[in-house]
Amino acid sequence: MGYLLHVLAEKCTGCMDCVEACPIEDGIRMIPLPSGEWDVVVCRHCNPAPCVEVCDFGALGVSGDGAVVLNPALCTSCKACIAVCPFGAVFLRPSGTMAKCDLCSGSPKCAEACREGALIYERVEKKSLMKGKPSVAELLELKGLR
Ligand code: SF4
Ligand code: SF4
Repeated sequence: MGYLLHVLAEKCTGCMDCVEACPIEDGIRMIPLPSGEWDVVVCRHCNPAPCVEVCDFGALGVSGDGAVVLNPALCTSCKACIAVCPFGAVFLRPSGTMAKCDLCSGSPKCAEACREGALIYERVEKKSLMKGKPSVAELLELKGLR
């Protein structure tokens, strides 16, 4: 069993209901675009997850139900996960700590709060979001980090 969180940014009105509903500070961010539209930036819980693969400290892992979760106690804020996330969905807070969505234990509050249908949550038998995407090694090389 896996989770998919679909972001239909074209439906987003920028109301911020999802941001207010998120129990994690900076778990989801809204980025205003020059076009007047919004980019909704939130973790897609990739499988396999580049952020989990790149973290040398074991601070990112996959929960029993398939959510990619951060253990703040193990995180050193090295930012390697930021470098490889294809969705820009790991955030460095001004305080220096890292933030990401933990999928609210399988019931994401952001998707429940969105009245526009811009966040659609789905449970699937199997997921493979990363098919065709560059590998972690390729991403790091592209960014000149390894
Ligand atoms: S790589 Fe980014 S979108 Fe994928 S699981 Fe990690 S934080 Fe989430
Ligand atoms: S910032 Fe934290 S979670 Fe991200 S790769 Fe570094 S130690 Fe791991």
